[in-house]
Amino acid sequence: MKYLGVDSGGTKTAVGLINEENKLVEKRSLATDVKGGVAEIAKNAARLIDEIFENQGLTYSDIEYVGVGVPGSVDNDKGLVLYANNLDFLNAPLRDEMAKYIPLPIYLENDANCAALGEYFAFKEKEDVDDFFMVTLGTGVGSGSIINGKLFKGFNNAAPEGGHMNLVPGGRLCTCGNKGCWEMYSSGTGLTMTAREIAEENLDSLMWELAGGKIENIDGRTPFEAASKGDKAAKEVLDKFFYHLGVALVSVVNLFQPEIITIGGGVSEQGDILIDKAQEAINNGSYTKTSRVTRVVKAELGNEAGIYGAAFLRR
Ligand SMILES: [Zn+2]
Repeated sequence: MKYLGVDSGGTKTAVGLINEENKLVEKRSLATDVKGGVAEIAKNAARLIDEIFENQGLTYSDIEYVGVGVPGSVDNDKGLVLYANNLDFLNAPLRDEMAKYIPLPIYLENDANCAALGEYFAFKEKEDVDDFFMVTLGTGVGSGSIINGKLFKGFNNAAPEGGHMNLVPGGRLCTCGNKGCWEMYSSGTGLTMTAREIAEENLDSLMWELAGGKIENIDGRTPFEAASKGDKAAKEVLDKFFYHLGVALVSVVNLFQPEIITIGGGVSEQGDILIDKAQEAINNGSYTKTSRVTRVVKAELGNEAGIYGAAFLRR
């Protein structure tokens, strides 16, 4: 039997067909019409599934179930999206809407948890581990935890929200209303803020030249590029960035004791230095001082992790 994974993000809805060997056979996507609500997302997902079926010569009888990742908190028992601020959903009946088109079991899950599950299964192809943590450094900081081989979700199906762990008491104001959340420092957005702050204090920094003299052109990539050319201010930006990332990851290790932490998201594309710095922080800072240290690895599925994970929800 095959499986379908749906990733219903704030900007696009994507559907992937996963085969018996856990491989993505075909993927299709459409822009998400946020105003159309869950009815529109269900209709679009069903349309993408029909296209895949037509292309692959399949029908619903070839599929075991459909898993759906949603950027928010879900209640799978009731089939509801409890809250998704990007999609403006509150107690939205996503499963009932999808069931109008899809004659199969439909399972809902938070999208960061889906991504963690996708990366976990991919990692398990190489090595058998039971305790695994994923961090996504993108626009925000996403996180997902596998404990004893199962997704850890907490009593509200919302755990873990690592990005909103308090890292700097009284620090930068977060979109969630609190101050000093991890994602205000280690996301692409947080890195950009740090780069602009330090650039303003260092008008001779190479970051200005790379940005054509415009502060709005300084983003998360700028300090990496400038630092690789020896710019001191850019190195200061990265030192701060790695410091905050390391402090947060040490807390993750001390709380969850994962055997593996995988790091994904746009910021992780900046190369091995990020993985090396994260590993160094954990080696130096985690409470347990044994020969078995949590290993940090780069995520491997890119933006398809959520589709894989949705398709793996009941594997
Ligand atoms: Zn927050």
